[in-house]
Amino acid sequence: MSPQLQGKTALVTGAASGIGQAVAARFLSEGANVVALDRIESNPGCDFQARAYASVVGDVRSAGDNQRAVDLAVSRFGGLDVFVGNAGLYDNRRAFRSFSAPELEAAFDELFGINVKGYLLGALAAAGALAKARGCILFTSSISGSRAGFGGALYVAAKHAVDGLTRQLALELAPDIRVNAVAPGYVPTGLRGLGSLGQTESSPGPAPSQTPLQMLPSADDIAAAYVFLASDACARTATGTVLALDGGAALRGPRT
Ligand code: NAD
Repeated sequence: MSPQLQGKTALVTGAASGIGQAVAARFLSEGANVVALDRIESNPGCDFQARAYASVVGDVRSAGDNQRAVDLAVSRFGGLDVFVGNAGLYDNRRAFRSFSAPELEAAFDELFGINVKGYLLGALAAAGALAKARGCILFTSSISGSRAGFGGALYVAAKHAVDGLTRQLALELAPDIRVNAVAPGYVPTGLRGLGSLGQTESSPGPAPSQTPLQMLPSADDIAAAYVFLASDACARTATGTVLALDGGAALRGPRT
């Protein structure tokens, strides 16, 4: 099959690990140029042509760092076709009533700063170049974008915000820029908890036997959907879509 993203340039946030890293690798293998933005150095971990890849170390909460990454895409590759807002943290399903008010404020600022403001700032920095290219935005949402119980109050509220943002930007940016989201269920990655709450790691996810399909997807399984949504196959149809890739987890509901 011919490469699906030949000649396109993508900016992927959170590309140093997990889903973002798999998206960067898939995009490269489909012929795209990729700029990675992460707070640590990114390496897509696959065979790729060095001239098709560039990385920026920065924080998605910074308008300047998002702009630097967009500017690099334009100066190095001549434009930007796809912005993937993906960098994120989890709240380990922290129970709402266990928060003190100062903890809640700090955790809100950290989680919404990365999971929501980071997406907004990235989309804003990218919008001019994307409009010129008739490009698209892809956000990593979650099963928590439409369901309760798979995260705590902060994570669920933030992912609901991402689904709303997907629909609002799809409307506002049409017809120049398509905007869609991918909503995974649990994927084994290095997804981290909130530093402001002392959560270094994420809490363990479900066992394969607890899921309807009796298996857990890899980040690469999820990345395939980003290729599809960014490709010309979707150019005439998909905008405002949140594509659920949860292996049926929403049908069964969260573990207690
Ligand atoms: P991950 O930790 O493997 O990857 C997240 C990446 O984001 C890391 O490389 C990290 O360094 C980067 N990052 C974090 N904060 C940043 C910041 N302020 N600035 C720049 N980069 C930053 O986790 P993942 O599971 O691949 O998560 C990616 C996205 O997928 C997140 O939005 C997450 O909410 C979502 N998601 C994950 C799962 C899951 O089960 N893993 C399920 C649904 C949705």
